[in-house]
Amino acid sequence: PIAFFSEYLARRVGEYKSLTGLSSIGLVIIYFVSTGITVINGAVYEVEESASHVFFVLNSFFVFMFLIGYSALMISVIKASEDKLAYMAHNDNLTGLFNRHYLMEQLRLMQETNSIYWIALADIDKFKSINDIYGHSSGDDVLKAVANAMNEVCEDCYIARWGGEEFLIVPKHENINKNILENLREYIEKLEITAGEHNIKVSISIGAYDYSNDLKLEKTIIKADENLYVSKNSGRNRVTC
Ligand code: GH3
Ligand code: MG
Ligand code: MG
Repeated sequence: PIAFFSEYLARRVGEYKSLTGLSSIGLVIIYFVSTGITVINGAVYEVEESASHVFFVLNSFFVFMFLIGYSALMISVIKASEDKLAYMAHNDNLTGLFNRHYLMEQLRLMQETNSIYWIALADIDKFKSINDIYGHSSGDDVLKAVANAMNEVCEDCYIARWGGEEFLIVPKHENINKNILENLREYIEKLEITAGEHNIKVSISIGAYDYSNDLKLEKTIIKADENLYVSKNSGRNRVTC
């Protein structure tokens, strides 16, 4: 097991050279040869029985301690690695919000348990001009700030980065009212976002639609998107439900 664990650790630090199969076979051969020699020829040297008992106890103690410690270390390394991979698979790396793929998976599960109540799509207004005026990296800072604001105001919602500067919001519980979207719009409108030496103000437009069993998931998203465009076409910085 130590050979295989070591290979795994070596891989993680990039020093990957697979000798585990060979070294395991080597160990098995050494074990049989040395045991065979002892069985055929008798012990190589004799020690007093009491010393032999002490040696047996110490040997067992250290072997067990080493195996337990080593296994615990390995499992903690594997768990940390899995957590990191799961985070990377489920979250957008700029904003930390869920990514589209993962939220869609969650929404399908929620649909099965009838626990989608409404869906909203939010889009930053005139975001292209923020990139054009302040630069792409300031644009990224704005995206992060808007994502943080969404997490703060809508802490009981699942939020995903749906596209470049577009977000999908869905409540976790039935009692979360769509009024929260108006609070979010106002909160972002008042936000002073610091990006480098700039202070940037933005607004968002939101479209929301109630979920129903007739519409199902995909059509509810399309309806929310249509409402988002109603918000955009009627002057932006507003919520259409
Ligand atoms: P509207 O009010 O109609 O939504 O106008 P808009 O300018 O926000 O819309 P448009 O879809 O034309 O522009 C979206 C821009 O978002 C274009 C793209 O360059 C930018 N964008 C997308 N993803 C990122 C990103 O990760 N970082 C930055 N800085 N910009 C991004
Ligand atoms: Mg936009
Ligand atoms: Mg857009």
